Parts: sequence; C-alpha cells; structure tokens
Amino acid sequence: MTLTEFLQSNQTAIIADFIKKADELGLEYIYKDEYYLWIKGNTNIAVTAHVDTVDIKYASRLDSMPIQNPEPKMIVEDKGILTAYRNETRCILGGDDRVGVHICYEQLSKSLEEIPHIFLFNGEEVGGIGSNEFCQDKPNLDMIELMIAVDCPYNNEFVWYGDNRSADKWVESFGWHNRGRGIFTDIANIGYYYDFPCVNLGCGYFKQHTPEEYIDIEIMEMSKRKLNRMLEEGYVPKLEQIALDCIDDFFFEDEAHCYEWGSQNC
Ligand SMILES: [Zn+2]
Repeated sequence: MTLTEFLQSNQTAIIADFIKKADELGLEYIYKDEYYLWIKGNTNIAVTAHVDTVDIKYASRLDSMPIQNPEPKMIVEDKGILTAYRNETRCILGGDDRVGVHICYEQLSKSLEEIPHIFLFNGEEVGGIGSNEFCQDKPNLDMIELMIAVDCPYNNEFVWYGDNRSADKWVESFGWHNRGRGIFTDIANIGYYYDFPCVNLGCGYFKQHTPEEYIDIEIMEMSKRKLNRMLEEGYVPKLEQIALDCIDDFFFEDEAHCYEWGSQNC
C-alpha cells in the first residue's frame, strides 16, 4: 500500500497487507487477531507503529463495534502538505499513526539481510489495548536491544519511555533532539514490561486528533532518512551506559539487586 492507501484503509486491510508481504518475503510472524502483528526481522532493532487512528476507531472490534470500512475521505496534497476532506469538509487525516505504518511497511522493501522486527499494534488510541495484550502474553524478546516507535508529531525530536536510557546518546548522534519522557504510546507499555530502551521519533504528522491534522512530507521524508541511517548502522548497546545505570541503582535504588547484577555485568 502507498501512504494515501494507508490513510484511507481500515486496520484489518492494513494488517492483511503486511501479512501478505511477510508471506511473500518468507518472514515469520505472530498475529493475534485484532491486537498485534509481530513480523520477525533479523537485526536487534524493532520498529513499531499503531494501526488504529482516532478517525476510524469505531472500525475495530476492540471498541466492541463491528469492523466496518471508514467513510471514504479524500486526501489532498498542496505544496508538500497532506490534508483530508469528507464531503468537502476538513477531517482527521489519520497521519497518527499511518505515517508510522507507512514507514514500517517500507522496511519490508529492504534487503532481506537487514530487516528490523516490525510490530503493529491496534487500539493505541483507546488505551494501548493491543500492546497491553502483547505484554500480558509476554513473548520472549531477548533478540531485541532497542525498540523505536514512529508515532510523534514533532520535527527532528524524540521522546523516550521506561527506565532504560542507554540509547539516548546514540539516538541523539543522528541529529534527534531529546524532548524527555513521552506521555503515552504503545512502547510505554512495552518499556514497562521489557528492559530494552524505547524511543519514539517525530515523523511529520501534526495537529493529530483534530480535523486540522496534516502531514508535512518533507519532514516525514527527513525522519525516514534519519531512521534508515540508524537502522543501517545497527544498534550496539552501550556498555558504559549500562555501568552508569548500575551505579545509579547502587546508590539510589536497589542495593542488593545492583550488587548481583553489577557483579555479572558491570
Ligand atoms: Zn499515535
């Protein structure tokens, strides 16, 4: 699907297209009906987005409603800005988070040697239902060292979740400005249950959840280029940072835990 098609489709059609692509590429995946799709890659980085939007959240069983197709909407591009209309009236575009879905999809067009793990979650906008279900199932994610969400309205900025900050400097080294702790997206759930760092990148949609929502294509493309550079380089967990975190634990939090952990890893 193209970005415009992602903006005009419902979750079920989007998930079906990702599964078709994974089958074509021979990639393994785990799909839990309506909740999440994990397409297994072969690097230590995961990229994630949510398939639901505020605009068509009624179109999901997660809201106890039958799946239905969204009312058709027209996507308009003018001077590099995408907006949406229904019956000639501006409406919610759904760039949050179909931009992220589009960027995840592009990862599946790369060389098979370097495909990151792709996670799509449903029900983010109604409380992170899909990612919460995933955390309850708690699949083994030992192969993942960093999870990157593409679900932020900012330009050139990222936020983080959970307590593992060991990837901050590495992310900043690609030109992203650190805005601090994020409020909520699926990786806020993931970061609570898993130990790897979780960061969320600005990706070019703005004024989400309102009829004024728009996508700035230039910002989206710049975000993609920077993300792709990160994925090409590959993430190497910074051992020095882990040691520093351990010292923090030792002095301020959990002495016994850190002693045991520190003796093995620091
Ligand atoms: Zn979002």
